[in-house]
Amino acid sequence: MSAPAAPYRGRFAPSPTGPLHLGSLVAALASYLDARAAAGQWLVRIEDVDQTRAVPGAADGILRTLDALGFTWDGPVVMQSGRTELYDAAIEALKMAGQAYDCGCSRAEIAAVATSGNEGPLYPGTCRDGLPPGKQPRSVRLRVPQDTVCCADRIAPRLCQQMASEIGDFVIRRADGYTAYQLAVVVDDADQGISHVVRGADLYTSTPRQRYLQGLLGLPLPAYAHVPLVRGPGGLKLSKQDRARPVDPTAPLPALRYALRFLGQAEPPERTDLAGFWRWAISHWDIGRVPPSTEFACPNPHPTN
Ligand code: GLU
Repeated sequence: MSAPAAPYRGRFAPSPTGPLHLGSLVAALASYLDARAAAGQWLVRIEDVDQTRAVPGAADGILRTLDALGFTWDGPVVMQSGRTELYDAAIEALKMAGQAYDCGCSRAEIAAVATSGNEGPLYPGTCRDGLPPGKQPRSVRLRVPQDTVCCADRIAPRLCQQMASEIGDFVIRRADGYTAYQLAVVVDDADQGISHVVRGADLYTSTPRQRYLQGLLGLPLPAYAHVPLVRGPGGLKLSKQDRARPVDPTAPLPALRYALRFLGQAEPPERTDLAGFWRWAISHWDIGRVPPSTEFACPNPHPTN
């Protein structure tokens, strides 16, 4: 007898940096439909770990808009800001295992000597073998291997990154004391039992770092799918920081229809009401119809391995 399939658990994990905009709605809708079409659970997690970017009231605003649009979530909303102990325990475990180390370098010191990788300057390794005399610990970095880490994706092409030459030892606790996104997200996805991650393509190239961390921490590996980003005028990414047009909670259907069309899905009949929209969208969800994104033009295509 084969083992029963793991239950589907998806999530939407907005950062509370402003109101819900169309780009986040596309990610929310895709993850929601994928979960509900699989009779799975859908959780909401507010990624407010970076308190320097959190805007007061934004988390409530996002939740109110999701509710007005007819999204329903399972269980209480999790706030990252209340979970520092969990992140600290993971960072300690990585340090104890020799996989992470204190770094005393400032950005300016790194920028002065570093070559560039895919995601910014490649850390030159100054503190890899211990803090040089006179340096105080500032951040904590993960020691990355020479290995290539590959990630399958349900929408985008498989992505491989050579960790040392493309990413370099990356920060898991920042100099200001906040946990870095890459660490918090893998701890939370595992702690919440997330089986499927569906999110925006801006995080596609973060996935190998997350996979690598999951391996080190002995965490289960969720399935990933990255949906295209909604572009603003001039092809720019719409983001909350750009004050992209917020979704109007008093007029849910036009925004939901737009997001569904953007995801390449069959559209409900003209006169459908909100409840009818959801019935239609869940029963017709087909991840195979989500269009490929220009984001997926992978800068370093490696042969599959
Ligand atoms: N908090 C991230 C954002 O708002 C999403 C992180 C994720 O889905 O992994 O862009």
